[in-house]
Amino acid sequence: MNFREAIKDKKRVVIKIGSSSLTHPETGGIDYNRLEVLVRELCNIRNSGKDVVLVSSGAIPVGQRVLHIKDAKQSIAVKQACASVGQARLMMVYQKIFAEYNQVCSQVLMTKDTITNDLNRFNTHNTFQELLSLGVIPIVNENDTVSTFEIKFGDNDTLSAIVASLIDADLLILLSDIDGLYSDNPRTNPDAEFISLVEKIDDSIMEMGKSETGSSVGTGGMNTKIHAAQIATKSGADMIIANSEDIHILHRIMDGREFGTLFVADKDEDFELVDFVEKLTE
Ligand code: GLU
Repeated sequence: MNFREAIKDKKRVVIKIGSSSLTHPETGGIDYNRLEVLVRELCNIRNSGKDVVLVSSGAIPVGQRVLHIKDAKQSIAVKQACASVGQARLMMVYQKIFAEYNQVCSQVLMTKDTITNDLNRFNTHNTFQELLSLGVIPIVNENDTVSTFEIKFGDNDTLSAIVASLIDADLLILLSDIDGLYSDNPRTNPDAEFISLVEKIDDSIMEMGKSETGSSVGTGGMNTKIHAAQIATKSGADMIIANSEDIHILHRIMDGREFGTLFVADKDEDFELVDFVEKLTE
């Protein structure tokens, strides 16, 4: 079976982009060029008849920039205020660029209890279903403005896998600042080997996740990505980690070409999303 060829037939795709891929590293300001390419690629996937969901980080760094807050150490309230400002700013920019392609996007902000509370989960599932059948591209983030430690997912790698599981997506793509999974940290070990296909997440794969990616902007290292891969694959979705340096990589992946690391779906009928989320701690 050619797993890459099978990507072409995926019907429902969740794509996650992190703060470091959306902002200029020197200033934290939005990188409009990259955002434009991202939106164009997403619209194109949508136009090919697939359901598309974007999980976008960036609320906190964009808010910090808007409010001229440079101090690295901030209280939770300051970070939450930044998220409130930054999320609105990000959505304004997304709306504007999506509108250029005549594409409607929407905002979905989630906390852990969106999943752990049965009624919330049921409603959120239905809302996603409705948005997708209306042709909308929902843009998801954690509701950082109100979420405190107890109700936080913590990072958007995990959140995107949870969303993929909730909406029965068949593909999750994590855009990152690294090509994919290596046998060791390629930034410190020149002999580290690139792994392009993972058919089973075993102990040796878990071990590889322990070498960090080194990005200082986003929250998720390789470890969180492998945990995300566990959620996604057990829920029945393939997951790909790919480098966001050139966001055009998205259509190359959708064409079935070999980019990034592909974790093949390995559906586990006993996997319970709610139990998983209940056990999440930061
Ligand atoms: N929700 C955070 C933000 O929008 C990002 C979390 C993450 O990147 O993992 O800034």
